[in-house]
Amino acid sequence: MRMIFIGPPGAGKGTQAARLVNQFTIPHISTGDMFRAAVKAGTPMGQEADRYMKAGQLVPDEVTIGLVRERFAEPDTQAGFMLDGFPRTVPQAEALAEALKTDGVNLDVVLLLEVPDELIVERIIGRRSDPETGAIYHLTFNPPPAEIADRLVHRKDDTEDAVRSRLEAYHKMTAPIIPFYESLGLLKRVNGVGTPDEVTAAINEALK
Ligand code: AMP
Repeated sequence: MRMIFIGPPGAGKGTQAARLVNQFTIPHISTGDMFRAAVKAGTPMGQEADRYMKAGQLVPDEVTIGLVRERFAEPDTQAGFMLDGFPRTVPQAEALAEALKTDGVNLDVVLLLEVPDELIVERIIGRRSDPETGAIYHLTFNPPPAEIADRLVHRKDDTEDAVRSRLEAYHKMTAPIIPFYESLGLLKRVNGVGTPDEVTAAINEALK
């Protein structure tokens, strides 16, 4: 299964992708997670990416495409993958199409998780993640167990200003890839409003 997850920041891609990769036993490739790991490791690429991420802007295409190319060279992607947060621009979608063509494989599905902008800001500001397990919580909508509350982290780009920039980048740079996948007959739209379980059910329905 080769699938892509598209949607605005805070749509629930990370939460749902983590569930789907268990179901399909495919690697979860999140460019956001890869950039955060590079920032933490303090690599030169991480330092460059950090400047864009903090401001809620997209990391330049050449850097992002290079990162994904390297990841695709790993053998675990042969049997399939779940791309979460990539592609996010038309040149990234074109680079992916080119790479898949070279490998002689096709995408199976592109899931678009739809959530209105008004809900996004509220979701993102309350979002916290567990650095030990990667689990994602929301202080109000999906509260963490009390015993792990102290170790949870708030992403640096989950501030109101950065969220507004990220939403703007989504509408300007990422939304244009939707018609591309729609024209290929690969796009499935899923309502991302609801509890995580309700959204998982909607995704499974769309994948039938
Ligand atoms: P995410 O965790 O997917 O919300 O990504 C966090 C941040 O990483 C984004 O706001 C961007 O700054 C950067 N990023 C992640 N994926 C991409 C991508 N495909 N293209 C450009 N920047 C990206």
